[in-house]
Amino acid sequence: MKKTFQFRIYPSRKQEVVLNRTLSTCRHLYNDALSERKKQAELNRLKKEFDVFPLGKPEWISYEDQANHLSHSKTDFQKEIHSQVLQNTLKRLDRSFRNFFNDFGYPRFQGRNRYNSFTYPQSGFAIETGKLNLSKIGNIRIIQHREIEGKIKTCTIKKDIDQWHVSFSCKIETPIIPVEIKTGIGIDVGLSSLITLSNGRQIEPPRFLREKEKKLTQEQRRLSRKKKGSGKRNKQKIIVAKVHRKIRNQRTDFAHKTSRKLVDTYDHIVFEDLQIKNMMQNHHLAKSISDAGWYQLIGLTKSKAEYAGKIVELVNARNTSQNCSGCGNPVPKDLSVRMHSCPFCGLVLDRDHNAAINILNRSNSTVGTTGINARQGLLDRGSMQRDAPWL
Ligand SMILES: [Zn+2]
Repeated sequence: MKKTFQFRIYPSRKQEVVLNRTLSTCRHLYNDALSERKKQAELNRLKKEFDVFPLGKPEWISYEDQANHLSHSKTDFQKEIHSQVLQNTLKRLDRSFRNFFNDFGYPRFQGRNRYNSFTYPQSGFAIETGKLNLSKIGNIRIIQHREIEGKIKTCTIKKDIDQWHVSFSCKIETPIIPVEIKTGIGIDVGLSSLITLSNGRQIEPPRFLREKEKKLTQEQRRLSRKKKGSGKRNKQKIIVAKVHRKIRNQRTDFAHKTSRKLVDTYDHIVFEDLQIKNMMQNHHLAKSISDAGWYQLIGLTKSKAEYAGKIVELVNARNTSQNCSGCGNPVPKDLSVRMHSCPFCGLVLDRDHNAAINILNRSNSTVGTTGINARQGLLDRGSMQRDAPWL
């Protein structure tokens, strides 16, 4: 299985210049290669429509074509970069085209703020005590706050406004031994920032996270008042981006701690499938932001569970808040009704608690009797997280 380890790195001023230049060169390569493919696509379209290129034009420019071409037409800037890093840039483009065919958006030209990482896919990097050695760049100070496990496969350098990080994607060979499933829990992730367990417990994100979210709204409002293209606006943009980063980091931290707690405590963890849920609702921006947090929590819980030989299951959340978890009858209520109170069986409990029990009840397996088959069934249900083109 794969595991990612991320650390902060501290380049010197000089190194930072080189890192920025590398990013910029990769970004230009990406955009040029994209424009080449676009042109070709347009030619192909014309060919189909008017049959004006009867002979010889290739149907499609492949990764191999572009990598091949690159290898004997490097610019001076490109020569300063480890060749695999450049190849990886073309691979990314190739991947976004493949994703496009799988219904993702058409690959976009990358602006300076968007293109923020480059990858050594195999070699060209080494890690020593306190130092990350990057080919063509040098030794960068690194704070390695935990041990890397497994075999490092790729090394990605990422810029985050004014900070730099390295992440290693590692392959871990240790066989995973499935545990006997004894304890199960259903989890309702709400519209609010709260999660509710089927045993009635609630987990609340730390207060500072909520405070920071308020601050973000303030700073964004300030940004919207600044004149487009002005220096003040650019400064405000950076402020907003930094608040964003703070929130993201705190959320990740919260998601790590919560998922760790869940996996340590329960063998079988059931969430609602947010993707199915979102297909049924039209959602607001604020909602999709909070969902991003839930996706992360579910993703982290999944990977920790997998590592521990435990199970995470996603179930269809349809009507989980409406139906009675006691007798199964529908008890319609709108969002403002916080209590579930069943006229059929008399069950009264918190709305989200009722939903969490329904989520657990929808699970495919019965706790205690789960065998390999049930496990296999769960694993086959596909992963919920769309692969970002690169992260
Ligand atoms: Zn009932």
